[in-house]
Amino acid sequence: MGEPALKSELLIANVNARSIPERRQLASVCDKKELQRKKILFVTPEYTGLIKAGGLGDVSAALPKALAARHDVRVLIPGYRQIMNSEYPINIVARLEGFAALPPCKIGELTMDDGCTIYVVICPELYEREGSPYGDANGRDWHDNHIRFARFALAAADLAMGKGHLGWRPELVHAHDWPAALTPAYMAWHGQATPTVFTIHNLAHQGLFGPECGADLGLPPEAFRVEGMEFYGQLSFLKAGIVYAHQITTVSQTYAREITQPNFGCGLDGLLKWKYDQGLLHGITNGIDESWEPGSDPHLVESFSSREWAAKRVNTRHVERLFDLPSGDGPLFAVVSRLAQQKGVDLTFNVASSVIEAGGRMVIMGCGESYLESQAVQLARRYPGKVGVHIGFNEAESRRIFAGSDFLLMPSRFEPCGLTQMYAQRFGSLPIATRTGGLADTIEDGLNGFLFQDAIANSYRAAIDRALKVFARPALMNAMRCCAMASPRYWRESIKPYANLYQHTVQEAQRKLAFLPMYGGRC
Ligand code: ADP
Repeated sequence: MGEPALKSELLIANVNARSIPERRQLASVCDKKELQRKKILFVTPEYTGLIKAGGLGDVSAALPKALAARHDVRVLIPGYRQIMNSEYPINIVARLEGFAALPPCKIGELTMDDGCTIYVVICPELYEREGSPYGDANGRDWHDNHIRFARFALAAADLAMGKGHLGWRPELVHAHDWPAALTPAYMAWHGQATPTVFTIHNLAHQGLFGPECGADLGLPPEAFRVEGMEFYGQLSFLKAGIVYAHQITTVSQTYAREITQPNFGCGLDGLLKWKYDQGLLHGITNGIDESWEPGSDPHLVESFSSREWAAKRVNTRHVERLFDLPSGDGPLFAVVSRLAQQKGVDLTFNVASSVIEAGGRMVIMGCGESYLESQAVQLARRYPGKVGVHIGFNEAESRRIFAGSDFLLMPSRFEPCGLTQMYAQRFGSLPIATRTGGLADTIEDGLNGFLFQDAIANSYRAAIDRALKVFARPALMNAMRCCAMASPRYWRESIKPYANLYQHTVQEAQRKLAFLPMYGGRC
């Protein structure tokens, strides 16, 4: 309890000595070694600006943009209705044949405002539906998700193999999460040696399907083995990505270690531990997009930079009005989250009474599991004028909530990286979070947020108590805010590990290719 407060005392003195631009300049010093520009295909089911269900969309849009200075990165995404109906014109640039039960498709090309080239897998019967990328409006998964995402992954593999005559062929394919995970597998089964990187954004979503689905996907016999994508009698798309990709990454260093342990490994810890020990699994912490800038964000009611606390307060007043809360001086706690078990929102409902009794208020914006949605609504009914709830998600309002709140509540049971805590920090709202995954890597307890050890109510309540004590000391609170605002790294400061990994993976693949015929000859 004492130590974080002491750290924070030091902060008050230090924060003035270390300006934000200075920190940024230091962090952006980049490797002078020239890296060769590579053609990279990003295979992802989400891309913020076109379609987003969570943090994966944010990363898929921001990382290619940041990498563009070093590499020619193009994105492949399914042609969901939202994309086909977007403002961007789409030109057909390739056609791909069907395979097993996977229908033929077209590849469309569109260019985002920032210049990023997006290839769209056009197959109306699979993708042009009302709902999210993964399910219908009631949150039920689409019954044919195995076909939808196998078609998507095979399109990526086909383009890597030069099929469809696109006129652009990647030198490396980077696939993201289970919907793209069959890409390295199809490439391996079809004899395509182009190097692949597979990123796990959330191990809990594995894309599990019954073995009877294998025939639809045209899987070879080896796929059904334990060395393939077989997982306790089922087919695991995610496991296929882990098994067949040349390199695996996940989105923070702590999560990379955690998933090699049984309590976080979702049954894949043995395989992941082996990959980790071989140096084939890396943790690369996410950055944030440069639009997260409170001094210039057009969505804010009033822009502000560190120390402009009166301007930050204008955003607080807006959030109070938005959630029908009377204006007040008590600390404002925010939840901006998918309402899912992973995020520990049930723990927040448990500790809400402590927050309210201490004079705090709470705003909750999110959607997800229906039982959690109704518990959130009940909480607002129980504490009128103290707790406000919006079921749903609105990006602009989420930014205002980060800007207007004092604390962000994020008691995740596990958190691969988490972006929300970094958005909150950047906007001067201190995260109170579990010491797990990327939360442990991006929050320094008592400096730019508060961490607690276990996702249980008592531990969480103790962290909230510490936060309330800091709030009662404005100089300390403001010093922590300054520190938090300077903490998150923009993607351009975080891409070096990816750029180096791409370089290494391509070189390794070339080395193996050069070695194979020689070895074969000797045999
Ligand atoms: P996750 O990807 O697990 O949801 P992250 O913190 O990595 O968590 O990223 C969350 C991103 O999704 C942020 O951009 C956040 O603002 C946004 N977001 C939060 N809640 C929702 C929601 N209910 N629906 C869609 N996006 C949401």
